[in-house]
Amino acid sequence: MKNLTPKTLKETLILLNEGDYKILAGGTDLMIQNRAWSNTLPKFNKDILLVFNLPELKYITLEDDCLHIGSTMTLEELLYHKLTPKLLVEAIKIMASPAIRNMATLGGNIGNASPAGDSLPVLYILNAIVVIESIERTRELPIEDLIIGPGKKTIQKNEIIKEIKIPMSNFTSIRFDKVGGRKADAISKISFAGVAKVKNNTIQDFRVSFGAVGPTVVRNKELEANVIGLTVDDMKVNIQEILNEFGNFIRPIDDQRSNKEYRKTVAINLLKSFILSL
Ligand SMILES: Cc1cc2nc3c(=O)[nH]c(=O)nc-3n(C[C@H](O)[C@H](O)[C@H](O)COP(=O)(O)OP(=O)(O)OC[C@H]3O[C@@H](n4cnc5c(N)ncnc54)[C@H](O)[C@@H]3O)c2cc1C
Repeated sequence: MKNLTPKTLKETLILLNEGDYKILAGGTDLMIQNRAWSNTLPKFNKDILLVFNLPELKYITLEDDCLHIGSTMTLEELLYHKLTPKLLVEAIKIMASPAIRNMATLGGNIGNASPAGDSLPVLYILNAIVVIESIERTRELPIEDLIIGPGKKTIQKNEIIKEIKIPMSNFTSIRFDKVGGRKADAISKISFAGVAKVKNNTIQDFRVSFGAVGPTVVRNKELEANVIGLTVDDMKVNIQEILNEFGNFIRPIDDQRSNKEYRKTVAINLLKSFILSL
């Protein structure tokens, strides 16, 4: 098995086009998934392309009303960057630990495609677009079209996640909640992200998503649209109906971290708490 460290993005794309490689950014998921006995090296079944230090993938810029985040920006770099959306900062604050966050990249959190990936509910409701590059073309996909199941992505073997594009928006309320086995360094049993814009007591924008309650992040744009134009008071009067409608779309499973009844109850309670806070 080879470990290659290309110096440029172009070299990376040529290698990806010619061979069958596993892209490794910070390695905080991959090294765990491929670990071996102590004092032995992790076992990978493919050659590795190390992209963590590619300068062309490390940036954050604001252009054309969109934030552009290079895929190998680490969580720690994003945590302290003044351009990082506040909601993403709220999520990163309670992800992993500083040591892991110094290696873990945003592209890796997406690339791992875990329903419990904590940046994902945030990226879903910020309408993030993932920019994917290969030697032949650059294409853009809404994040919900990139991740199609646990660990499953619509990305080809010669492609790399280049950047995450986030359209700029203003919200009057934001919320990220995560329920795990302990306060820090825990994998989410349930996560919740919410944003809303309220003007003159009327809902102008409302987006919510739930992590770790299905094979992918759960978001329902039709249900969100139903509450646009309601007054905050109407929304609170009709809260039970709204919770029931969202509840129909939340169908968690049992696993080693939690069971479906707990997950569903907590997910709905987090939505309720967000609505009551508007
Ligand atoms: C102790 C510990 C605590 C953790 N806590 C959390 C937590 O609280 N919340 C959370 O969400 N995660 C957590 N994680 C998981 C992990 O840190 C994150 O998912 C991290 O963002 C992965 O980034 P990485 O750069 O290390 O990815 P890697 O391990 O390098 O890669 C992960 C996957 O993404 C692919 N990939 C990486 N970069 C690209 C790219 N540019 N283009 C295409 N594919 C790519 C890789 O091929 C691989 O399949 C934790 C991990 C550990 C070890």
